[in-house]
Amino acid sequence: MPDTSFLSWPFFEARHREWARAVRAWCDSHPVATSGNLDAECRRLVAELGTAGLLKACVADGDTRPDVRTLAIARETLAYHSALADFAFAMQGLGSGAISLFGTVEQKRQWLPKVASGEAIAAFAMTEPGCGSDAANVATSAMREGDEWVLVGEKTYISNGGIADFYLTFARTGEGEGSRGLSAFIVPADAPGLSVAERIEVIAPHPLARLKYDNVRIRADAIVGEPGEGFRVGMETLNLFRVTVGAAALGLARRAMDEALSFVRNRRLGAAKLADNAVTQAKLADMATAIDAAALLIYRAAWQRDEGGTDHRRAAAMAKLFATEAAQKIIDDAVQLHGGAGVTKGVTVEHLYRDIRALRIYEGASEVQRQIIARDLLKGA
Ligand SMILES: Cc1cc2nc3c(=O)[nH]c(=O)nc-3n(C[C@H](O)[C@H](O)[C@H](O)COP(=O)(O)OP(=O)(O)OC[C@H]3O[C@@H](n4cnc5c(N)ncnc54)[C@H](O)[C@@H]3O)c2cc1C
Repeated sequence: MPDTSFLSWPFFEARHREWARAVRAWCDSHPVATSGNLDAECRRLVAELGTAGLLKACVADGDTRPDVRTLAIARETLAYHSALADFAFAMQGLGSGAISLFGTVEQKRQWLPKVASGEAIAAFAMTEPGCGSDAANVATSAMREGDEWVLVGEKTYISNGGIADFYLTFARTGEGEGSRGLSAFIVPADAPGLSVAERIEVIAPHPLARLKYDNVRIRADAIVGEPGEGFRVGMETLNLFRVTVGAAALGLARRAMDEALSFVRNRRLGAAKLADNAVTQAKLADMATAIDAAALLIYRAAWQRDEGGTDHRRAAAMAKLFATEAAQKIIDDAVQLHGGAGVTKGVTVEHLYRDIRALRIYEGASEVQRQIIARDLLKGA
């Protein structure tokens, strides 16, 4: 059982503790399945999370934005249980986030109930072969032709690529240079001209693809926000979910901690247990301290976003940076404590070792988070 004592911290209300219990109960009744068919597993997870009502937390309720503490608790709890379940949950939020934050009443009515029920799978398509961290340089273009937008270009590393029902796509509409000339669009997966050019395999498998937009025609009202506002739409969406990437890392780290504790209590080192060794104990102490520090940063940032009324960008960047970097170290320590068993395929810590890696890269690499923090500090000074 994961440590949930943090739920008594002052960042939370009774509804958060209730929610944590509900997500935990879902995990307990949904053992991790490995059918070998990744797409089918992800579709099933989205459907099951939707049926249980958990995906409602991912979307706006009318004008009420998603509650970040609720999202973070869900991601931490799901990631502890299964990285793929966390992925399925998280992408419903990230892929539909722009609609929740900037969509029209009609766009919200058309898509959000389906995202919340798990009937529609969402994706967020910003990265391109020529631009990742430098999102202002998106080259995919969108030209207005009568009552339609026509999109031409390529996107890559798109999560849910190949199984999504719509791709929230960022394209250049040319109102200004760089970040001032982008717009955001809802592109249905069945739009003529949109195709999956390549499926990409990564160290911790999840559906990922390169997409081709070959004169993809979508309706004029598929734009989210105003023309030229796309960069803000994208950054606000990422800002909302950034803290929750840290929360997923925290769930993976807590799992590694528990696996390590269980292992060292049982593993003999000569006459004694591995747990009795002072070096082991120092490692465990450092792991536990980093876990609490990550949790404090994550839930401080989430609370600040939900309640604080202040700009939470620096806090969110700190939370994502620290939690993902710390989780990588904690999981590595857990692997080390397991010895040979730690690198054996199929052992939980071996899986966690692969699961954590991409979190330090996507939704803003650690270096980008440091840049956000430093710029904010210098602006303040
Ligand atoms: C598993 C996975 C899932 C993903 N899912 C999605 C998705 O659903 N939608 C989507 O749009 N994209 C997605 N991405 C793409 C992801 O957001 C990009 O990989 C990320 O933004 C980095 O871009 P890049 O890979 O082009 O690396 P680059 O931008 O080329 O950066 C390479 C490296 O350079 C360093 N670096 C970058 N910027 C700076 C800086 N300012 N200062 C110092 N060093 C820097 C970092 O170490 C970085 O890792 C996903 C990626 C992965 C791995």
